[in-house]
This record gives sequence, structure tokens and C-alpha cells, in this order.
Amino acid sequence: MADMREPIESGCPDPWQYMHPVMRKNFGMWKYHEHPRVGVLRHVAYSGDEVWTVKVGTQRILDVFTMRKLCDIGDRYADGFVHFTLRSNLEYVVDDAAKVEPLIKAVEDAGFVVGGTQNSVTMISHTQGWLHCDIPGTDASGVVKSMMDELIDEFKTATMPNRVHITTSCCQINCGGQGDIAINVQHTKPPKINHDLVANVCERPSVVARCPVAAIRPAMVNGKPSLEVDERKCICCGACFPPCPPMQINDAEHSKLAIWVGGNHSNARGKPTFQKLVAAGIPNNPPRWPEATAIVKRILKAYKEGARDWERVNEWVERIGWPRFFEEVELPFTKYHIDTWRGSRASFNASNYIRF
Ligand code: SF4
Ligand code: SF4
Repeated sequence: MADMREPIESGCPDPWQYMHPVMRKNFGMWKYHEHPRVGVLRHVAYSGDEVWTVKVGTQRILDVFTMRKLCDIGDRYADGFVHFTLRSNLEYVVDDAAKVEPLIKAVEDAGFVVGGTQNSVTMISHTQGWLHCDIPGTDASGVVKSMMDELIDEFKTATMPNRVHITTSCCQINCGGQGDIAINVQHTKPPKINHDLVANVCERPSVVARCPVAAIRPAMVNGKPSLEVDERKCICCGACFPPCPPMQINDAEHSKLAIWVGGNHSNARGKPTFQKLVAAGIPNNPPRWPEATAIVKRILKAYKEGARDWERVNEWVERIGWPRFFEEVELPFTKYHIDTWRGSRASFNASNYIRF
């Protein structure tokens, strides 16, 4: 029998081997870049070398046949080098302007889209809990696919005031949520505890420690060690579910989606900004999630019509103010926008959006 291959536990592979030779040669020595058309970037090095990057949208979860198809296009029409961006776009790199148009044609003939650069709506970034994680409350990839199907024209054109980053997450507490617009899971009921399983499955002290609002206590139930939740304190975050699956919080009816707006990392011009909740209790409605998509489209339409050139979503909202934002996107300002968590004296019964 053939020897089993030893797993390689050394982190990311060496990126140099996958880099286009022109990029390797000019590493750190780029003079400028320009944007000749949507989906294409031209980088010029001090040495005079040039590379063109063609950005292609994917559905993120790729089967091996689709991957091979994309790589075959890369071998035939590009120079045999591809890489993926953080937002699951695939980028081909070529060193000759004459290769760009045939490459784009081959990609589009195979059913993919070219775009996502500069002031377009680029691919929605997300994690995919269904495949690798133990706590998802929805299928984030499905939300991405159905939303991007409707936003495809915004991916192919660059007509937004500035770039738009959208994110989704499949639970309420971990990945996702760093975008101009974020679609996140929102649990609305405390976890239901299966007391028969807690003692066998859960390490109770770590579950108690996990709760951000100290709502979980050890308890004896039917003579067995278990846990109990003070439901008046619980903020339905779901943080107790990963270390203790018998504290089931995912629910077909009560796990909803929420939309948050205005997150941005810091940059040379400004500090980071935090997102604010704008729509809550949206049905988690597979396979096309029409309610969430309709709200995202309204936000994008209002941003496109109302923002000044190069204003990001957070800058636009800051300039016009949250009350006007809610009017523009036709979303109600509800009691869910008021902080009702009694543990926070400073923000209890206050609004994040409006100062009186
Ligand atoms: S968003 Fe949550 S459920 Fe999805 S992969 Fe990340 S931790 Fe897992
Ligand atoms: S859902 Fe969150 S707040 Fe509620 S008990 Fe679990 S960890 Fe605590």
C-alpha cells in the first residue's frame, strides 16, 4: 500500500511561486496604475514593465469543474496565473495589452462577468458556515448569489459615487459585517436548552463565561448538571451555541436577517466608522431572500442618487444625517433602533442615530 502523504501544517503556501513573473520582478517597484475599463487595471512599474489585471466575479463556492474551466481560460488566454481576492473575485494577470480583450471575451462566453473595480458594487464578501463552521443560522452564499444576480449591472458598470462593499454573515457573532452594507443573521429568541445533553456535551464553565451579559447560570435539572438562561437579560446573540450545541438558537421562524449600514475601515483620511442597524426582523427566506435584496437595492439607489462623487456610504449618511437616511430609503425608525439593554446605563433607552 502506498504511504499516506503527511499533512503540511505550515500555514499559507509560498505566494511567490504563484505570482506572475512580471509582478515578481517588479515587486514593490510600481509607479502608478490606471483603470482603462470596468474590471481591468493597468499597473506600470518604474522599469517600464506593465501588467493588466482582469477581474472576474464568481459565485464563491466553486465546484472543481468550474474551477478547471476558469483555470483553462487562464492557461489559454492569460499567462497561466490567477489569484483570488478577499471578495472571491478571480483575477487573471497578463503582460500584454493585446491579450486583454480576447481574455474578456473567453470569460464572458463561458458565462462569467467581468467588473467589480473602482466605483462599482464589487462581490459581496462572506463566510460559508454550511461548509466549514458549526454555528450558521443561514446560508450566506445563497444570499450572495441571489443578491448579486440582481446587482449584476452594478458589478459590470462603475456608476456608484464610490466603491461599495457589501458583506453577509451566517451567524450573528463572528465573521462578516465589515462593509458599507452588511446583511447579518439576527436571532430573536433565547436559546432552547436540551437538558438531557448538556451534561454530556458541554463544558459548563466555558459556556457560562461565554455569555456577554452574564445571563447563563449553572443549574441542576432533573437531577443532572445543566444550565439555565435568564431570558430577561439574554440578548439572543447566539454566543453560547458554539461551545454548547444543546443550547439551540437557530430557528427557521425566529432567526431573521438584519441590515447594517456605514461600516468602514480607517484610511489615510479618516477614522474607522461603525455600522448602525437600519432594518431588523427581515425574513430569512431562501432560496432568493427577496425581502433583504429589496432593501439593499433601495439603499443603493438612494446612495447613488444622493451621494456626492467619491463619498462612501458612511460619509454620505454622516452628511445628510440618519433621520434623512431613513426617509430616503423608506425604512421605518422603530423601537428596535433604541437601545433597550438594561445592562448599559450610558446608552439605555437612547438612540445611536439621533442626539437630542
Ligand atoms: S459567520 Fe458565523 S456561522 Fe458563518 S462561518 Fe463565520 S462564525 Fe461560522
Ligand atoms: S444567546 Fe447570547 S446573551 Fe443569550 S444566553 Fe446565549 S450567550 Fe448569553
